[in-house]
Amino acid sequence: METQPQMTLADLINEIYLLIDYSAPEGEANLLKEVLERYAGDAIAMNVFHHFYSFLPEAREDGITGLSRVARHHGVFLFCATTLHADYLYLATREATTLLGPFSDGIEEQDLLEFFGWRDDEHFRKAVGDPAELEEHIPMNDSLDLCPVCGTGDGEFHAFGCPVEICPWCDGQLTNCECRFTRTGRDQFSRDSHLDELLTLLEEEGRIPFVAEEHRPSFMTEDS
Ligand SMILES: [Zn+2]
Ligand SMILES: [Zn+2]
Repeated sequence: METQPQMTLADLINEIYLLIDYSAPEGEANLLKEVLERYAGDAIAMNVFHHFYSFLPEAREDGITGLSRVARHHGVFLFCATTLHADYLYLATREATTLLGPFSDGIEEQDLLEFFGWRDDEHFRKAVGDPAELEEHIPMNDSLDLCPVCGTGDGEFHAFGCPVEICPWCDGQLTNCECRFTRTGRDQFSRDSHLDELLTLLEEEGRIPFVAEEHRPSFMTEDS
């Protein structure tokens, strides 16, 4: 996956606006910006828009007119971006985005198919159906069933490093409490293997999955 440049969401959106001015066919820019604005609070969707307008898939003037969520698993999203010319499959997390290719080409990577629960490409095509019939992606910040930071679903584990994950040892914030140091005996995590060590200890203790109910803002649950 290609890692996105480190910038704030507002910077990212401003950059996409500029890119749209260069990429949009004559007379389409306003419509394309309206589509962008629908997802302005959704960091993962913004990564897809940024990737699209930075590397126009077929190097021709084009723009995203709709975004559908094809599948989601553990904070990894498979999107279908419908453009003025075609439908494209994108794989996206909060950190990175990759273009898989035209929707009509399906998915070749077996590991990826299995990650989302499809046996093979044929199963994927049957299960997903016509891209024109896919439901529009609801912005993540409006999706109460998803972790607002890493996008993992109700009952699933957070992406490792998500600040919403609760520490199983002290009930604090896992990315902020002292347990990662005291449990591993390390004072810093400079290699992937150090993080793997922590993850193994966490899994032995039992990681705490995301529970949508507990993380909803209080004003949303008052009447229920
Ligand atoms: Zn999370
Ligand atoms: Zn802790």
